[in-house]
Amino acid sequence: MAEEKIVEKLIFELSDEGNCGTFLPELDVPQVSLPENLSRKNLPLPEVSEVETVRHFTKLSRLNFGVDLGFYPLGSCTMKYNPKINEEIAALAGFARLHPYLEEDQIQGILELLYNFEEYLKALFGFSAYTFQPAAGAHGELTALMMIKAYHKDQRQETRDKIIVPDSSHGTNPASVTMVGFKSVVVKSNPQGGVDLDALKAVVGDDTAGIMLTNPNTLGLFDENVIKIAEVIHKAGGLLYYDGANANALLGKSRPSDLGFDVAHFNLHKTFSTPHGGGGPGSGPVGVAEKLVPYLPQPRVIKEGNKFKLKTADPDKSIGKVHSFNGNIGVIIKAFCYVRLLGKAIQEVSEDAVLAANYLMQKLKKYYYLPYDRTCQHEFVLSAKWQKEKYGVKALDIAKRLIDYGIHPPTVYFPLIVEEALMIEPTETESKATLDRFIEVMIQIAKECEQNPEIVKSSPKSTPVSRLNETQAARNPKLKWEPQTSK
Ligand SMILES: *Cc1c(COP(=O)(O)O)cnc(C)c1O
Repeated sequence: MAEEKIVEKLIFELSDEGNCGTFLPELDVPQVSLPENLSRKNLPLPEVSEVETVRHFTKLSRLNFGVDLGFYPLGSCTMKYNPKINEEIAALAGFARLHPYLEEDQIQGILELLYNFEEYLKALFGFSAYTFQPAAGAHGELTALMMIKAYHKDQRQETRDKIIVPDSSHGTNPASVTMVGFKSVVVKSNPQGGVDLDALKAVVGDDTAGIMLTNPNTLGLFDENVIKIAEVIHKAGGLLYYDGANANALLGKSRPSDLGFDVAHFNLHKTFSTPHGGGGPGSGPVGVAEKLVPYLPQPRVIKEGNKFKLKTADPDKSIGKVHSFNGNIGVIIKAFCYVRLLGKAIQEVSEDAVLAANYLMQKLKKYYYLPYDRTCQHEFVLSAKWQKEKYGVKALDIAKRLIDYGIHPPTVYFPLIVEEALMIEPTETESKATLDRFIEVMIQIAKECEQNPEIVKSSPKSTPVSRLNETQAARNPKLKWEPQTSK
């Protein structure tokens, strides 16, 4: 089914002595030399013509895969379509040219937008107030844990230094716990994929500062014991943190604050369709229950009469700033537009996201092992266990083979509690035709594993380089062009 493509090897080094992209006119003034300290003796620049330069960068840009190019079922990351109207609005001069030091009277528009967006988040997820400073999900976790710490300190409960994290939690959870100086205590999952209540009861105590829960969790499953979990933690004097990085199954359906959570973060760059990937700007607002409001980063937007103001409520209690000004404002504008664009139809986002995930799960569970065979939420986790045992093909090989079919690989080897995990999140923005093609390709790859495993193990074949040394790439990245030493 995969067409044999002749792959053009990317020739990166194009410089050739004497090539030039510009032509300067003949000198018509006396020639002078630059002073010694202003001129660099050794300035190796690539020597390329204009047309080669244009082709070089155009070719590079075409090597990128993005959601605007094809299906991108990267579990937990919610690679939904980013509506282009949001980009246009965020780029309007009235937003894009604002200077953060302008007087309050001159920025009433953006303050009103922030104020209203906070109201939208309250309607969608509950909670009493939000901060927009955190620049990402992990940053939101850090902010929230700092508030939990400040709260316990105020209650003269500094000895509470343990945060409970389920073994299915996102890696950023225990990392944030450590950053804030808490200790993480891992609690195992039950056979249904939720938190094991007995294991939870065994670890809570006087030293429990709180729990970090993702629900639906990273298996894409809703933990039906969430109210019981809340009771256990609250009874022990701990706080409940909700990791709402991916709230795609929740929008307009259920509010974490109604389930008993005290604090939560939400990723605008996942659920609210703002572009992400490649380390670009994100936004991870944090919402808090009444008792944590005094600890929020300051200042916050408040409304007095019909004026919007930036006010610092209680500088002594606040954990202080976690970002300059009001966070990544461009991302917030795009997320605001997304909510306005959908209005009440935002409920259909979660309905369609959950439907798409269940459709894929049902169609694929005959071909790949499904460790938790329950109705899923916005995502589900398959395992390449069968393929590994029978044909020596791993989840990574299957992920790489998908690239040859023009599909971005799903998240692999996460969550850690599923061996050879393939975590698939289709999102609501894909057509049934796209989902059907993905099913067809996944079935085809399952057949290839059986009939010709080598083809899967040696993929991808359609890219200029096949398998990268990912450890080297992460540890010793080469991020800029350097001249060849021979020149
Ligand atoms: C993405 C994600 C995070 C981290 O968000 P970043 O913006 O990447 O820092 C945390 N928890 C879960 C469940 C996530 O999916």
